[in-house]
Amino acid sequence: MVRKILTLGDKALRKVCNPIEKFDIRLKLLLRDMADTMYKANGVGLAAPQIGILRRAIVIDTQEEGGPGLIEILNPVLLEASGEQGGPEGCLSVPERRGYVVRPEYVKIRYQNIRGESCELEGHGLLARAICHEMDHLEGIIYVDKMDYEIFEDDQQENDGGEQ
Ligand code: ZN
Repeated sequence: MVRKILTLGDKALRKVCNPIEKFDIRLKLLLRDMADTMYKANGVGLAAPQIGILRRAIVIDTQEEGGPGLIEILNPVLLEASGEQGGPEGCLSVPERRGYVVRPEYVKIRYQNIRGESCELEGHGLLARAICHEMDHLEGIIYVDKMDYEIFEDDQQENDGGEQ
């Protein structure tokens, strides 16, 4: 089910989210709704607080050729970050705006999957950017807090970070 995406100014987007503790049918339904909502909005990632659920849950699909497809990430912890990439980034909660944001080029995280099993994920490029962007949402941080400058339509750049 597609849910309503909250936008900048909504207090729920500024809260620190709580860990997922129950790996039950409700979680499964939440993750399904998050994926439906992300795909409907043509996003490459979505965090639970963006639909008003203050839990540490993320879905990402960078939709890259040969990419991993849909990834469901619960209770993520950053293990490693290195390198640097600067580029345009958008957020489904900040419609019609983009900003230039510097992120690590590579990250490695530990997280739990839908069954509560511990997993690790490494990402470069867009996947690394999406992981960082979504993990920020779980802390109440939005890209506009860290962008170097606003990007306007007429100077669209390559390596676009997509809407998250
Ligand atoms: Zn976002």
